[in-house]
Amino acid sequence: MKLAVRDVSVTYGGTAPVALSQVSISLGEQEQVALIGPSGSGKSTLLSVLGVARIPSAGQLLLEDQDPWQLASAKLQGLRSQLHLCPQSTALPARQRVVVSVLSGLLPKRSLLFALRSLLSPARADVQLVRGLLTKLDMEQCLWRSVETLSGGQRQRVAIARAMAADVSTLLVDEPLSALDPTTAELCLGVLVEHAMERQQALVCSLHQIELARKCLKRIIGLRAGKIMFDLPATSVSDKMIEELYRGHEAEIQT
Ligand code: ADP
Ligand code: MG
Repeated sequence: MKLAVRDVSVTYGGTAPVALSQVSISLGEQEQVALIGPSGSGKSTLLSVLGVARIPSAGQLLLEDQDPWQLASAKLQGLRSQLHLCPQSTALPARQRVVVSVLSGLLPKRSLLFALRSLLSPARADVQLVRGLLTKLDMEQCLWRSVETLSGGQRQRVAIARAMAADVSTLLVDEPLSALDPTTAELCLGVLVEHAMERQQALVCSLHQIELARKCLKRIIGLRAGKIMFDLPATSVSDKMIEELYRGHEAEIQT
């Protein structure tokens, strides 16, 4: 799906600083983009605007050249169902089994009956689908475990698998690697990027693993204090630009 924001600003009200300030970007239908920048720079806010989860205070979101917030609710839901937003700290239901948690990524496109049935006993084909995704993320052994028994890094991979299960045209994934060790982070970002490419999905992924972002994603958008500092092909992003982007926040860069 074609996605764009035009001059979007977001303020959270009160004395909060402006979270996004006149941000404009356009994303092609199958484009893959990394969103980087220090904490508080507006990455999560931008992802929530793109995910039709937050109305901009000013400016416009455009999905397929339409402003979803101007549409009747049925049409709005139709557009929303083309997007999967994976929030920064996904609150997975603790008692749920991993297989069910991953399958819930599919629920918006399935019937209520399917949703209820899969909570009780997932169909064999769906279990296979989840097993395949978990295997890629080195998590196959967790298929039948309940979420509450998993480590932070394992939960994060369940959230990644859930995004991969979603039958959508655009994935918006907020810091999916923050709890992962460098080797697992590289594996998981590679898997996510390849999966999206195979399914011709657009992908916007925020992260602090700068080297991985440069290696795995073709376009990088750098945000700082709610503004776009650069929006460039990964190969054009210099060390100096990264240094300036993270000035005063160097410790936040992850390897
Ligand atoms: P990032 O994801 O890059 O860390 P955020 O989008 O979370 O940045 O935050 C951008 C700015 O908006 C920060 O100054 C942050 O403190 C502020 N902010 C984020 N969420 C809220 C909120 N719910 N209420 C008030 N201010 C918020
Ligand atoms: Mg954030």
